[in-house]
Formats: sequence, C-alpha cells, structure tokens
Amino acid sequence: MLIILFSILMGAVIGSFLNVVIFRLPKILNGEKISLSFPASFCPACHHPIRWRHNIPVISWLLLKGKCLDCRSAISPRYPLIEILMAALFGWVTSQHGLTADTAAVLFALCLLVPLAVIDADTMLLPNRLMYPLLAGGLTVALAGIGRVSWQEAAIAAALGFVAPWSISKLFYLFNKREGMGRGDMKLFAAIGAWVGYSQLWDVMIASCILATVCALLILKVKRGQSFPFGPYPIIVTVIIFLFN
Ligand SMILES: [Zn+2]
Repeated sequence: MLIILFSILMGAVIGSFLNVVIFRLPKILNGEKISLSFPASFCPACHHPIRWRHNIPVISWLLLKGKCLDCRSAISPRYPLIEILMAALFGWVTSQHGLTADTAAVLFALCLLVPLAVIDADTMLLPNRLMYPLLAGGLTVALAGIGRVSWQEAAIAAALGFVAPWSISKLFYLFNKREGMGRGDMKLFAAIGAWVGYSQLWDVMIASCILATVCALLILKVKRGQSFPFGPYPIIVTVIIFLFN
C-alpha cells in the first residue's frame, strides 16, 4: 500500500517535470535559448519566476485557483491534469505489477508516450529526442529479457512498424499525390512495435486508425485534405494495452 502511495507521488512529481518537457522541448527545437532546467519555471504570460512553494504538483494549482499570482492570467488546467494522469498511471501500474522490472519498464515508456502525445497534438511534431529513447528502450528491455516480447519479436515488430505504414503511404501517394502519413508517425509505430511485439502492433494500427478517423470527423471536424496530428491515437491505444496487460 505504501509503495503504491509513493508511486502516485512519484508520478505527480514526474508529471510536473513532463509539463516542462511538453512546454519547452518544442521551443528548444525551434532554436529558443532555453533548456529543460534553465531558467527556472516561469509564468508563460508575464515570465515572472514561480516561487518554489507554488511548484508543488496539483496542490499549487488548486491553491492559486489556476491563476498566476503576479499577473492573474489563467494557468492552463492541463498542468495539473497531466500531473494527475501521471500519478494515476504510476499508481495503477505499480498496483498491478508491484515493484518489478516490468513496472519500471512500462513507467519508462509512459513517461515518453504521454509527452509525445501532447507535443504532437500541440505542434504536429514527434521529437526524435523522445522517439529514439522510446525505440531504444523497447529494444533494450526486450534484449534484457524483462520485456513482454522476445527481442526477436521486438526487432521484427519495430521494422514492420516503420515499413508497413511507409508502404501504405507510398501507395496512397501514387493515387492521391500527397503524403498520407508523416515520417514521425512511422517512427512512432516502430517504437511502439519494439514494446508490444507484432501481434499487438496490428491491434494498435487498426484501433488507432479507427479512433483517429472517428475523432477527426466527429470531434475535430477535419476537412478533406487537411492534416491533423495522428500520434496521440496510437499512443492512447498503446497506453491502454500497457494498463490492461
Ligand atoms: Zn504571470
């Protein structure tokens, strides 16, 4: 019980760090002179530094009633939501698998998958700086024998994850003269394949295409020919697989 509680707290603190990654990584890749650790957290509206006592996950946001103390501008509820999400994911995975190598591996993957989904939704980019560790992590875990699939299956699934959507995309291009899917999405399938193996990779591909189509038509109301971030969908399906397997 204590372990689960500790895991929930860890999740909230890591969620708080992932908020920094989500907010800053696209800016860093854009050439802005900031890093993940410098300068210290600041209000995106007035750039006033955030006091350390206002930097406690979830609780600070509630105490400040979602507003910056200095300029009164609203602080997005997304910050506490991501902290709560990570806390819940950490608590759940630990309660299911205990303090095991499997838990550590899954939590590592979740810490990359969640910021990838949010950054893609924000910017339509899947940064390699998160993607390569995800791919390398999946292969390493399988190679070390603590993954959910053998290293052979992980390697084949990673290759298929890239090649299958790449071939479909090339075919699509022949008929439509435009790219059906970004390079980033293919790399994402490769990385996911390394974690879940090929049989579940097909599930991820099919389920995410259905989910993306439904969301694009009903919620986002994407028009024909308009592009939209695809990455969040395979990531949602993969997270669900991690949680219930
Ligand atoms: Zn402010």
